Amino acid sequence: MAQAFFGGVHPHDMKAATNEKAIEQLPAPAQVVIPMSQHFGAPCTPLVKAGDHVKVGQKIGEFRGLGAPIHASVSGTVKAVEPRPYSMGGNVMSVVIDNDMQDETSEEVQAPANPDALSVDEMVEIVKNAGIVGMGGATFPTHVKISGGVGKVDTVIINGAECEPYITGDHRAMLERSEEVIGGATYLAKMFGVEKVVIGVEVNKQNGIDQLNKTIAEKHAPVVVEGLRCRYPQGGEKQLCQAITGKQVPPGGLPSNIGCAVFNINTTCAIYKAITTGMPVVKKVVTVSGSGVVEPKNVECPIGTPVSLLFDFCGGLKDGTYKLIAGGPMMGMAQYTADIPVAKGTGCMLAFCEKEEQTVEHPQCIRCGKCVGVCPMHLEPLFLYQYASKGLVDELNDAHIMDCMECGACAYTCPARLHLTHMFKTGKQLVKDAAAKAKAAAEAKKAAEEAKKEVVNK
Ligand code: SF4
Ligand code: SF4
Repeated sequence: MAQAFFGGVHPHDMKAATNEKAIEQLPAPAQVVIPMSQHFGAPCTPLVKAGDHVKVGQKIGEFRGLGAPIHASVSGTVKAVEPRPYSMGGNVMSVVIDNDMQDETSEEVQAPANPDALSVDEMVEIVKNAGIVGMGGATFPTHVKISGGVGKVDTVIINGAECEPYITGDHRAMLERSEEVIGGATYLAKMFGVEKVVIGVEVNKQNGIDQLNKTIAEKHAPVVVEGLRCRYPQGGEKQLCQAITGKQVPPGGLPSNIGCAVFNINTTCAIYKAITTGMPVVKKVVTVSGSGVVEPKNVECPIGTPVSLLFDFCGGLKDGTYKLIAGGPMMGMAQYTADIPVAKGTGCMLAFCEKEEQTVEHPQCIRCGKCVGVCPMHLEPLFLYQYASKGLVDELNDAHIMDCMECGACAYTCPARLHLTHMFKTGKQLVKDAAAKAKAAAEAKKAAEEAKKEVVNK
């Protein structure tokens, strides 16, 4: 078994509600709302307008700079292109499509004649055109990660840790789609030119490990599975790299700094599907769970499906449901409505009706130091909390707040129930705002000096 990373916690995994349930297909929704911002980077520009007819797999959003294109997930008529609520907060420009229930595939979707004969550049181009991003929630464009890592990366890791409680979509993919996982990993080995790809899986998914090993043996694939001791947040890229290689990503650095590239299990499936069939990312597996859900399930649905339909498909919400979370309980975001769409990074929707939340009024730090012992980034959360609550930007910078991955391990362990992670999000925003203000002031000063020089030269 691989060695561990520093810190972390071991919450109850709460996976039993869904980990033995096969992925079910949601009946086709009557309408989808496809956000133009589903990736790390600037939002896409819509390529369609109200009244246009679209087909499954047709490109409807184009990116510029860092990003990935967005595709229609159903066939039908564009009803509107307008801002709609989104799980990351606020409204984002979205393409609303009325489903004609014909499930027509776009002519743009073309399977390569011989996928195994493709060059590295051709495979990267397919990944780019398929709109593949980190499906574990990070949503970093996959083609950028591959093209930036080719020649520099010697360790390719598939992230099967799935350490966050409740979520079981990756586990089910290992069991039900192991050929896609191993096929995608094999293409990644080819793209990076490495002899072996390592899949890291926590040992609470032993049947997933067994299934992957069986498929690797059948396919003679250049892939090995490494069992990992259960520990949250093992699925964080930096922690996974350390658990597998023993090397630490430097502060402010990326896995590529130590020669690693990490891909999620479902991202790997998407790579396989795009290279073998030409189909871009148009569907997502979502774990729907929590005490407020009548019948928790893993559900596959078109991107843009309203989350309310997922809850309906799982028997609805129980009386007294008081909290909805998009994502897991440690890193997810609370939602005020179920009227939000499933996006590429949506892996889980939780609803709670029982008294799981333990909050106290006016929490006070008792300086026990537990948060320091669990922080996988070697930070001192108790001081970060003080600096952020007082708006001390210089101190926040000196304490490396931007290295905080918002994993929530400190908040989970804090006996005083301080809202640590929430405060760190605020603190990071303060640092970003201050940096933007300083940059704007420097640019204004430079422009004024140049204008002055021009006047003198005249
Ligand atoms: S765990 Fe909570 S109470 Fe203990 S030092 Fe950290 S912030 Fe303070
Ligand atoms: S949320 Fe940030 S400060 Fe807290 S344990 Fe995670 S990385 Fe450390």
